[in-house]
Amino acid sequence: MILLSTPLTEIKGIGSSLAQKFSKLGLENVKDVLYYFPFRYQDFSQIVHINELEEGQIATVFGIIDTTKLYKTWKRKMWILECTIKDNAGSIKAIWFNQQFLASTLKEGLSVNLSGKVSLQGKKLIMQNPEYEIISSAHYNVKHTGKLVPIYPETKGITSRGIRFLVDKILPLIQDIPEFLPTEEMEQNDLMDLYSALLAIHSPTSLDEVKIAEHRFAFQDLFLLQLVNASKRVSMQREKSFAIKYDPNFIKKIFSHLPFELTLAQKKSLVDILEDLKKDHPTNRLLQGDVGSGKTIVSAISALVCAQNEKQTVFMAPTEVLAQQHYQTFKKIFSTQSQEEFLSCGVALLTSSSALAFFGDDLESKISKKDILKEIKSGRIKIIIGTHSVIQKTVEFKDLALVVIDEQHRFGVNQRHLLSEKKSLIKPHLLSMSATPIPRTLALTVFGDLDVSIINELPKNRKPIITKIVSQKDRQSAYAFIRKQIDSGRQAFVICPRIENIQTEEKKLSQRQMFQLDVKSVTEEYEKLSKKIFPDFKIGMLHGRLKSNEKEEIMRKFQDGKIDILVSTSVVEVGVDIPNASIMMIEGSERFGLSQLYQFRGRVGRGEYQSYCFLLSDLNSKTVFDRLKALITAKNGFELAQMDLKFRGPGQFLGEEQSGLPDIAMKAIQNPDLVQITKESAQKLINKDSTLTDYPYLSAYLKLFNQKIHLE
Ligand code: ADP
Ligand code: MG
Repeated sequence: MILLSTPLTEIKGIGSSLAQKFSKLGLENVKDVLYYFPFRYQDFSQIVHINELEEGQIATVFGIIDTTKLYKTWKRKMWILECTIKDNAGSIKAIWFNQQFLASTLKEGLSVNLSGKVSLQGKKLIMQNPEYEIISSAHYNVKHTGKLVPIYPETKGITSRGIRFLVDKILPLIQDIPEFLPTEEMEQNDLMDLYSALLAIHSPTSLDEVKIAEHRFAFQDLFLLQLVNASKRVSMQREKSFAIKYDPNFIKKIFSHLPFELTLAQKKSLVDILEDLKKDHPTNRLLQGDVGSGKTIVSAISALVCAQNEKQTVFMAPTEVLAQQHYQTFKKIFSTQSQEEFLSCGVALLTSSSALAFFGDDLESKISKKDILKEIKSGRIKIIIGTHSVIQKTVEFKDLALVVIDEQHRFGVNQRHLLSEKKSLIKPHLLSMSATPIPRTLALTVFGDLDVSIINELPKNRKPIITKIVSQKDRQSAYAFIRKQIDSGRQAFVICPRIENIQTEEKKLSQRQMFQLDVKSVTEEYEKLSKKIFPDFKIGMLHGRLKSNEKEEIMRKFQDGKIDILVSTSVVEVGVDIPNASIMMIEGSERFGLSQLYQFRGRVGRGEYQSYCFLLSDLNSKTVFDRLKALITAKNGFELAQMDLKFRGPGQFLGEEQSGLPDIAMKAIQNPDLVQITKESAQKLINKDSTLTDYPYLSAYLKLFNQKIHLE
């Protein structure tokens, strides 16, 4: 019997050399071939007599090869194969370019089908590079001509003809392939059975049939994904974590010491998180909120609640600058809170280049890295902030209750799970935060094992940021505008795509590469702004090659208003908070993704001042302009995410790291109802039979599916 896992070499009619060739391309067994789907169909179903052909028509004719001629053009050295095909009503010439090997197949006297477009050569009709198929008997089943013919993605030596050949050998053998979806789902959702659907995909009789089959496979994929999610939920329920209680009076006390009142959305999200913490099994929540919506304080309060319960929290940030800033945030909170509860509580910063800590009773404590690690192990340090590299390796916790991951989209799925998989028996609760808004259906699909809280309002005093695409001729007036803003006390960012000028950075590049890479550099702009444009202002420079203490000092100076204009690479991209800055000027803006630009812009407009974003580009193209314009028209991050999705497709949008699921993501976006239906069905099934013991085929399929998406 043939199984999905049967290797191609074991299938009659597929030679071992052919099987080997496809195996190199990743098509090793029956399943690989059956699930290599066509991306479109060519309609060759119109079969006509040769004398009925018309110019421009796409059709199939059947006839006998009358003459063949193979020759090389002397001018362009191209092989040409010419055949005339005759049926009992007429004849037509067919020409193939550079396919001299066909001469050994298309021999005089053979019966063939030719499918393709009819064109005019002089006054005569001909077919150029038509699909051909030798018809060997009266009962011959066509695969390349005379019907709806599947066209497969042709990459790395896989041809549509080759796949059709394999599929044709396999399809007749799988008629008894077992259906693995539960009967109940099949009936309720009116799904096509597996065999019919595979047949319809690879050898359809109509495009309607293809649609019905595609629906089945969309359902199948989403259902399997939701089963993965549902079983993850179940296994999380079985694990242990610290149950953290909170005292409303304690929260009120923290509130009373904050310089602002939390927005309603912040309060709601905080309650969601605090309710998660109360559970004695690990929870997993995504906190989404536009740039500047105030996610940090929400997570910080959650960490304080854990600390008050004598439990630890880890904060992971994607960059040093951001980790530094979170550390400062906690310092500020501790300096204003004056809570007796926190007297002995420590907060540490651990990145690849710095190790700092302070304690509730000594905000300026000097302590070595070794001692910091010791105090983390002893449990006196309750809040540990860092970049991921440090936290993964060396740190041992006493009782880790909560892991906060800031800007989670910057971390790959695997990295995120690493922390929660640390050896200890008690798992921490997980809180991820992101300003890159993932459309809800997508979040439910890809991160189906998460709960989602959304901060959908900005703090009250915020004004929308005025965004302008500035052409080169208006550059000077943009500088004049910046001058006015700084004169009135504000600060500005200037972002450049590169650190150094290309000439000094990489000398060996070709002329063409030089041209492509000829984009604004931080050092160059820094020189220009500090010497020519704004000699009277204090200009600072920030980029990834600076040492961490240099970066920190520059950020602190900027924060303290000792720098007016900060020229920087994308290191300020995520999270950095300077409420007094009102200008974000982005050079070479076409070099950045929309979401990245959105993040940059979010660096300003965080205080009470009207803020501005200037987008500059050296390219003067309409596509660039249209893309940048999305930044002006999108009302919020969610809308922009949708647009970004349109411009770039879900694969890029999510990032390869984020998931191997662009295909499923696409299905999800196009069909939110199906996401909901499959989610509910999957949950129901897992509740009934969490190990899928009664569904062996489904369980086997799920294993294969899991390997494919390698979420773990
Ligand atoms: P993000 O959600 O992008 O991480 P932050 O947490 O960095 O945003 O907050 C941005 C700024 O808004 C910070 O300066 C923070 O102190 C301030 N902030 C947060 N919540 C409020 C609020 N409710 N009212 C006023 N300002 C707030
Ligand atoms: Mg942030």
